Amino acid sequence: MIGSYFKRLARQNNMKTKHGVAYGDFRGYAVTFRDGNSTKYIDITTSFPEFADRTALQSELRCVNLLKQYNIRELRFYDERIEIVFLDILSTRKKLLSFIDYFFPILDRYNASKINICPRCGQELGYSSGWMLLDNAAYHMHDTCMDSMKMQTEREIAAEREADGGSYLTGAIGALVGALIGAVPIAALRYFGYSEYIFGALTGLFAYLGYKIAGGKNARGKFLIVFVCSIIGILLGVFGSDAVYMMLAVKNGQLSPMTNKDIIPGIFYLLATNEEYASDCDLDIILNISLALLCMSVVFRNSRNKRKIKTLE
Ligand SMILES: [Zn+2]
Repeated sequence: MIGSYFKRLARQNNMKTKHGVAYGDFRGYAVTFRDGNSTKYIDITTSFPEFADRTALQSELRCVNLLKQYNIRELRFYDERIEIVFLDILSTRKKLLSFIDYFFPILDRYNASKINICPRCGQELGYSSGWMLLDNAAYHMHDTCMDSMKMQTEREIAAEREADGGSYLTGAIGALVGALIGAVPIAALRYFGYSEYIFGALTGLFAYLGYKIAGGKNARGKFLIVFVCSIIGILLGVFGSDAVYMMLAVKNGQLSPMTNKDIIPGIFYLLATNEEYASDCDLDIILNISLALLCMSVVFRNSRNKRKIKTLE
């Protein structure tokens, strides 16, 4: 995400905007601007030919009260990147500019690599180079270095997933329990003739939470598992209310000679023969599933692995 302040700053410096960031040449360095959640980020993709320079810069920065002076919450050093996280409050706009005036000359002094140098290999950039977005920072580097960095990142993501230690099976059990918790209010509201759709949406959320709490594996299959469990919860909720209704009617002898074991086949029979009942159920189920899906897409979007790789140019 990029707000109007960074957009303007980027325009003034002939930087480009793409995939929610502004990037390009800023004061001779490969710099990325972006807005976070109540934060502003400046990333400088650079490396130090001498490790001693980097540690000297870090110790110089320790002498400055970055939070008080520049509203900086964090300043992190990575292998080929420096990330500065500002608190996004009113005074930050002014302080951000004074930080830029303070910080970029220090980078020069400690020989941080500039935009014409590949931060990965430290060699000058020629024709076969480009821009890549990784972890929301734009890297200007050789095509071959880009490929190796992509591969390294993919390996790291796979290792993180592996280390996560989750399992699809326990996740599915958790999602099912969550979906059943959603099914109870659906059945109850339908039974008493109220609209139950809010719980259709919540069934998607409950199934997702169940999956997470039960330690479900954080990989591609989780969406499908949570979705299938939500559908099961919704079906149980929708038909559960009718089953309870029929059970009570059987108990009172209103459906004689039907017994409890005839209830499930009875519902199937109604679905097959009674058009009005079938279309009522279909509508309810479709609406509930759509709402659960909508709710799921919101929570999944927010829980997605933040590490993304994109080619910028
Ligand atoms: Zn390179």
